[in-house]
Amino acid sequence: MKPMYINGQWITSSDGETIDVYNPATEEVIDTVPNGSPEDAVKAIEAANVAFEEWRWVTALERSEMLQEAARKFRDNFDEIVDLLTLEEGKARPENEEEGEWTIGTLDYYAGLARNSRGRVLPPAERSQFNFVIKEPYGVAACIVPFNYPLLLMIWKVAPALAAGNTVIIKPSDHTPLTTLRLAKIVFDHFPPGVVNVLTGRGDRVGDVLVEHPDVPVIAFTGSTAIGQRIAALAAKRVKRLHLELGGKDPFVIAPDADVETAVEAVAYAALLNAGQVCTSTERVYVPQEMGDTFAGAMVDFVRSLRLGPGLEPTTDMGPLAAPGYRDKVAGHVADAVEKGAKVLTGGKIPAKFERGWYYEPTVLVNVNHSMKCMREETFGPTIPIMTYRTFDEAIKLANDSDYGLGAVVRTNDARLAKRFFEEVQAGTVWINDPLTDNYAGPFGGMKMSGNARELGEEGLESFLETKHVHWDFSDEVKDYWYPY
Ligand code: NAP
Repeated sequence: MKPMYINGQWITSSDGETIDVYNPATEEVIDTVPNGSPEDAVKAIEAANVAFEEWRWVTALERSEMLQEAARKFRDNFDEIVDLLTLEEGKARPENEEEGEWTIGTLDYYAGLARNSRGRVLPPAERSQFNFVIKEPYGVAACIVPFNYPLLLMIWKVAPALAAGNTVIIKPSDHTPLTTLRLAKIVFDHFPPGVVNVLTGRGDRVGDVLVEHPDVPVIAFTGSTAIGQRIAALAAKRVKRLHLELGGKDPFVIAPDADVETAVEAVAYAALLNAGQVCTSTERVYVPQEMGDTFAGAMVDFVRSLRLGPGLEPTTDMGPLAAPGYRDKVAGHVADAVEKGAKVLTGGKIPAKFERGWYYEPTVLVNVNHSMKCMREETFGPTIPIMTYRTFDEAIKLANDSDYGLGAVVRTNDARLAKRFFEEVQAGTVWINDPLTDNYAGPFGGMKMSGNARELGEEGLESFLETKHVHWDFSDEVKDYWYPY
């Protein structure tokens, strides 16, 4: 059993409940963690709140050095961390190495930004006045993290929150808490007690306390739109600062000028990375009508060449899904599409070669339309539904015909089409030619039902800073606008 980390101490749940953590490649229990109780959540909030009283005055330079120290410790323990991440999350090891590198990079990036001065001086309204804006930390930040990139999506919140002078309570997914606990032990252990806390426990047990407690002024949540909506409703009672990074249904438009072979590989990567469990996974592909058959045929050939297996096998291209429920959802979307007239060109089933593990074959679908779940709801699995279009206008219309607006991709070297795409498509990130790449300085987040926040970049730091305007008058005279009128 791995205890949770609250106030610099390793503790079990107050009522002794635990959660089993599974290896998705073998369905075996790897370890257990405490199923934190509402009382444990209050304990974490109190600890983080007390720690904030001192942490908020630690200088930006010292905070920066502590973040750099965390990055260094991560680098020193890189392989061990990446192996554990692969065991509990399931994706292929190279993808977890990348997640590790990005986590380190985010620490370094916010260590740099932490040292930048904040605020600005304003032109005063009167000669005797001096006006300025300062930026302050909020206090305790609840950082609620999903299973698919447990470290990256955690550090996108925790690094800027700490850089800004907040204390944090990390609530990892109950599917992937182990690596986060390991980080608390070997990467964050130099932070004062209570500054970084890891509260394990099922979301429906500890979530409401974190969201509703008056001493948690800011909530940073990444996860499904359904849970995000619930959190938003609860947080509204106290008008809390709320950053929501939610689901997606990203379109990938292949323009008429695109090279088919390269476009096929770009789409396969964007749709199948982490077995399609990326918030910005390509979930809808739009291809010019005249290219449809060639593209679908080449996609089938490419997808069939990919090797499924456990994440730790060096030959694995694609791992299993993280939990059986996620696989059931993918199978449900494929069944719905087939019922409504879609054709499965390859995949569409659980592979026979594995006795255990939550695998699903990468699946290419054609004859799809927007009445099908696979084109409307987030699938979060290895599916590639391909639809044809006649004009670029129609492609943009189809791309925007969604409740979601997280990311969107186009492959083209026609500058006029690229410009139309990035101007007209409703998405927080637009990738032209190279899908799913991030930039530490580039804000990431969604439009429409994909969320209301931006992580990374200066915007990511701003999310954890409160704005205060100071109006200072240096004259002792009675003002002519005071009473009596
Ligand atoms: P999820 O089921 O919504 O869970 C996300 C987190 O919320 C988990 O830690 C979960 O804890 C917790 N939670 C559950 N119920 C809660 C409650 N009532 N109050 C507070 N927290 C609660 O999402 P997931 O299945 O882990 O992740 C997949 C989803 O995340 C997809 O929709 C994906 O698109 C989205 N996502 C979005 C982004 C983005 O940046 N926009 C990035 C990655 C993923 P338990 O695990 O213990 O239930």
